[in-house]
Amino acid sequence: MGAPDYPALQLLVAGEWIDASARETLAVVNPATDQTLGALPMATADDLDRAVEAAAGAFKAWRAINALERGAVLKRAAAIIRANLDRDAVTLTLEQGKPLAQARVELASSADWFEWYAEEARRSYGRVIPARLPGGRVEVVREPVGPVAAFAPWNFPASQMARKLAAALAAGCPVIAKPAEETPGAALAIARALVEAGLPKGALSVVFGVPSEVSARLIAAPAIRKVSFTGSTAVGRLIAGQAAAGLKRVTLELGGHAPVIVFDDVDPEAAARACAVAKLRNAGQVCTSPTRFLVQDKIHDRFVDALGRAMAATTVGDGLDPGVEMGPLANPRRIEAMRVLAADAVAAGGRLLTGGERIGNVGNFWAPTLIADAPPQARVMNEEPFGPLALTHRFTEPEAALAEANRLPYGLAAYAFTRDAARAQLVRGGIESGLVGLNTFSVTWPETPFGGVKDSGYGSEGGSEGLEAYLVTKLVSEA
Ligand code: NAD
Repeated sequence: MGAPDYPALQLLVAGEWIDASARETLAVVNPATDQTLGALPMATADDLDRAVEAAAGAFKAWRAINALERGAVLKRAAAIIRANLDRDAVTLTLEQGKPLAQARVELASSADWFEWYAEEARRSYGRVIPARLPGGRVEVVREPVGPVAAFAPWNFPASQMARKLAAALAAGCPVIAKPAEETPGAALAIARALVEAGLPKGALSVVFGVPSEVSARLIAAPAIRKVSFTGSTAVGRLIAGQAAAGLKRVTLELGGHAPVIVFDDVDPEAAARACAVAKLRNAGQVCTSPTRFLVQDKIHDRFVDALGRAMAATTVGDGLDPGVEMGPLANPRRIEAMRVLAADAVAAGGRLLTGGERIGNVGNFWAPTLIADAPPQARVMNEEPFGPLALTHRFTEPEAALAEANRLPYGLAAYAFTRDAARAQLVRGGIESGLVGLNTFSVTWPETPFGGVKDSGYGSEGGSEGLEAYLVTKLVSEA
C-alpha cells in the first residue's frame, strides 16, 4: 500500500515488471514527514542473473540497430519524460525532499540528456589510416563495449539515471541499473519512459537490493563489460577493485569538497548571495556543492556576514510547500553527519555563525549552517559534508588560497570569483579539479564532460567523452 501521488514500485527484469507483492520489500520513506511512501521489491540473485542474461541477449539486437534508430527511441523517451514532468516531479520531491521547482528542473534536464545523446550517437565516427601494405586498407571502428552495470545515487535520482542510460544506450550498450533504494520512484519513471518509447526487452533492467550484494554479483558476471558508479569515494574504491578483478572498464563519479576562491575585486554582497543559493541547492547534497569559501582579506568580513544572512534567510520546509527554498536532507544519516561535523568544527575552534542544529523532530530538516575559521585539522575541512554546511577561511595572498584549494585529495569542482584576468589565469592553470567555474557555479550540461581527478574518480559523463566511455576501438587491416 502506498501514499497518494506516489507510484507503485517495481523491478524491471528481462522486460518483465515485478511487483512488490512478489518479493521481499524495503520501505521508502518521505524525508519531510517520516511517512512511508511505498514498498520497494528487492531483487533476488536469480533476478540479477536473469537481468544479466537478458542484457547479453539484447546486446546483439540493440547494437545492430543503427544509431539513428536508437536515437529515435531516446528522443521519444525524452518527450515522454517531458509529458509526465508534473506528475514525476511530485514523486521525486516526495521521496528525495528537494523543492518541487528543483525536481522539475531535474526532470527537464533528464530529458535533455536523452535528446543530446540521441544526436551524439550519430557521431561515433571511426577513421581510415593510410595502409602500408600494397592495396591494403586500415580502418578504425568504434563499437559498443557491451552490457553495463550502472549504480546511481539518491541525490539526483532522475538525472543521474538519465546521464548513465542516455550515453550507454546511445552507444549500443544494454544496461542493468541499480538506482538508490531510497529514491526509486523517479528512477523508475525514467525507465518506464524508455520502455514506452520502444526500448527492446532486456536492453534495460532496473534492480534494487542490498547495494553491496547487487554490485558484487553484477560486476562479477562475465557478460558485464562496463561499470559506472556515482557515489562516495569509499564505495568507489570498492567497486573499482571488484571491476579490476574482471578487467572491466569503469567510470567513477565520486565525492568532492569544492573550494570557492572569492577575490577582493568582486562585490562581496552579490557574490555571497550567489554562493548561498549554490550551497543550499538540493540541501547541499551535490557532489559539486561549494563548501570551502576562501575569502580575501579586504572583503572577508562583508562577504561572511552577507553569506550568513542569506543562508539564515532561506526558507526551509517540505519541498511540496510553495515558497520553500530548501527541503529536508534525504536520509537520517545526513542529519547525523551534520551534527558530528558541526560539533567537531566548533570544538576545534570554528565559529558557528548560523544554523548548527536540526529543525523540529519530524523529517530530516537541518538549518543552513555557516562555520567560520575552522582549522584545517577539523574533520569538516577534510571530509565532504554533503549537506547544507559551508565553511569560510580568510586569505591574503592568492597563492595561499590556491594551496588551500588544492590541499585535499578531492578534485571534482572548484570555483573562483574575480574580474581580474591574472587571478582568473592563476586559478584556471593552477587548480587541481575536473570542473572549474569562474564567476559561475554552472558547470554541468549534457554536452560538456563531467568528471573529477584524484579521489573524486575517473572518467567522464557528458559530452563526447561520455559516449567514448561506452565504446571500444577495433582496428581492421585488410590486404
Ligand atoms: P554510501 O557511501 O553508503 O552510499 C553512496 C551511494 O552508493 C548510495 O547511492 C548507495 O546506495 C550506493 N552504494 C553503497 N554501497 C554500495 C555498493 N557496495 N555497491 C554499489 N552501490 C553502493 O553513503 P550514503 O550515506 O548513501 O551517502 C553519503 C555519501 O555518499 C556522501 O558523503 C557523498 O560522498 C556520497 N554521495 C555522492 C554522490 C555524488 O553525486 N557523487 C551522490 C550520493 C552520495
